[in-house]
Amino acid sequence: MAALEERSGPDWQELDKEHYLHPFTDHKDLHKKKSRIITHAEGSYIYDADGNRILDAMSGLWCVNAGYGRDELIEAAAAQMRELPYYNSFFQCAHPPSIALAKLLQEVSPPQMNRVFFTGSGSESNDTIVRMVRRYWDLMGQPERQTIISRHNAYHGSTVAAASLGGMKPMHRQGGLPIPGIVHVDQPYWFGSDHSQTPDEFGLQAARAIETAINEIGADKIAAFIGEPIQGAGGVIVPPDTYWPEVQRICDEYGVLLISDEVITGFGRLGEWFGADFYGTRPDFMPFAKGVTSGYLPLGGVLVSDRVAETLIDKGGEFYHGYTYSGHPAACAVAIANINILRNEGLVERVKNDIGPYLQKKWHSLGEHPLVGETRMVGLMGAFEIVQDKDSLGRFDEDLGVGTICRDFLVNNGLVMRAVGDTIVAAPPFILSHAEADEMVEIAWKCLDLTQKAIE
Ligand SMILES: *Cc1c(COP(=O)(O)O)cnc(C)c1O
Repeated sequence: MAALEERSGPDWQELDKEHYLHPFTDHKDLHKKKSRIITHAEGSYIYDADGNRILDAMSGLWCVNAGYGRDELIEAAAAQMRELPYYNSFFQCAHPPSIALAKLLQEVSPPQMNRVFFTGSGSESNDTIVRMVRRYWDLMGQPERQTIISRHNAYHGSTVAAASLGGMKPMHRQGGLPIPGIVHVDQPYWFGSDHSQTPDEFGLQAARAIETAINEIGADKIAAFIGEPIQGAGGVIVPPDTYWPEVQRICDEYGVLLISDEVITGFGRLGEWFGADFYGTRPDFMPFAKGVTSGYLPLGGVLVSDRVAETLIDKGGEFYHGYTYSGHPAACAVAIANINILRNEGLVERVKNDIGPYLQKKWHSLGEHPLVGETRMVGLMGAFEIVQDKDSLGRFDEDLGVGTICRDFLVNNGLVMRAVGDTIVAAPPFILSHAEADEMVEIAWKCLDLTQKAIE
C-alpha cells in the first residue's frame, strides 16, 4: 500500500520543485505550475498520479515504439544484469551482447553498413560522428576537410557538438554555439515557404543550397553533410520527393560524406528499417538511439559505412574516443530483444502496410478542420499545421501560442502530442490499434474545436 500512496498526491510535485531541474524546461514557469507525474504505463497508454489515462501518441520521446509493458525487454535486461551487468569495451575487450547486437544491426541496416560504434544516446552519437568524420579525413590525407554542413531547424541532440550540428537558434544563443566548422543551410520545409514554387521545385532548391555552400566554402574543406531523413523535433518536416535524391547527387559529386540522422527514423518509424531505406540514400554514417531499445534502456550508436570503417582499421592509429557505457551489456541485451520483437511481430511491415496507412487516412481527414492548413504523415510520423486562414495558409500571431493552447487541450483530453510552434506533431507506437488510431483522431478533432472556441 505504501508504494501506491507514494505514487500519488501532491508530494511528488512538491519534491520535484524542490530538487529536480528538468531538461528543456522554463524553470520559472514550471515553478508557477506543477509537473504531471507519470506513474505507470501499458501498451499505448500512460497513467498519471491523478488517475488520468492518456494515449501516448508521442511514444514517450519518439522512442517507445514497441509499446509499454513488454516483458521480453524487461526480462532481457534482468537476465543480462544477472550474468554481467557491466563491462567495458576498452582495452581490447568485448562481451556477447554488444557483439551480438553489432551483428544484428548489420543484418537490418543497408548493405554498406557492416560496423557499429556504440554510445549512450543520440547526442553522443552525433558527437562521435564529428570526431570520426574529421579523423577519417585526417587519415585520408585531407585534414582540411573539417566543415560539416547542416540545416536550420535541424535537431541532432543537446551536447555541445550535437547542438552545434542542430539548427535551433534558441539553443545556439545559450552557450556560444555553434562550435567552429559547422554551417547551416535552408531546410526543405515547403509549408514554411512562400509557396511560390511547387514542392518539387522547392525541394530541389533546398538541396542546392547545400551545393551553394560547398562551392562558397570550397569542396576541399567540406567533410560531411548531416540531415534527418524527416526532421522530427523541428516539426515533422517531410521533404519534397526531389530533395534526398538531389542531396545524394551533390554528396557524390563533391565527395562529401553523408550522415543520415536516424535517431527517430531508425528501426521502423517510416515503415522501413531506416529513413535511408525509405528515401534511397546511401549514407556513410547513421546515428541511432531512441527506437533501438524502444526507450527501455538508454543506448545509442553510429552505423559506419565500409569505406569509413575500413579506413579507420587499415590506416590504424588509436582513435582517442569512446564512452564508459559504449556497448553497455544490459542496454545491448534490451536492443537485441527489441529488434527481435520488431522482426517476430512484423512491426516494421505493420507500420508500412497496416497501421501506418490506416492512421494516415484518418489523419488527413483532420485537414478538413477550419484550423488546419496541412496534414502530413509518413509511416507513423506526422504533423498538422494550425493556420488562421485556410486559403492563404496564413499563421496566427506567434504570441497567441495557439499550438500550445491546442497541445494543452489534447493532453487534458487524454492524448499526448507535441506542439512545435503552431505545428502539432505525432509519433505513436507501432503497436497502436485501429481503435486507438480512431481515438487519436477523434480527440484531435475535438481539441481543434476547443482551440478554435478558445481563441475566438
Ligand atoms: C532525439 C534526437 C537526437 C538526440 O538524442 P538524445 O538521445 O536525446 O541525445 C539526435 N538526433 C535526432 C534526430 C533526434 O531526434
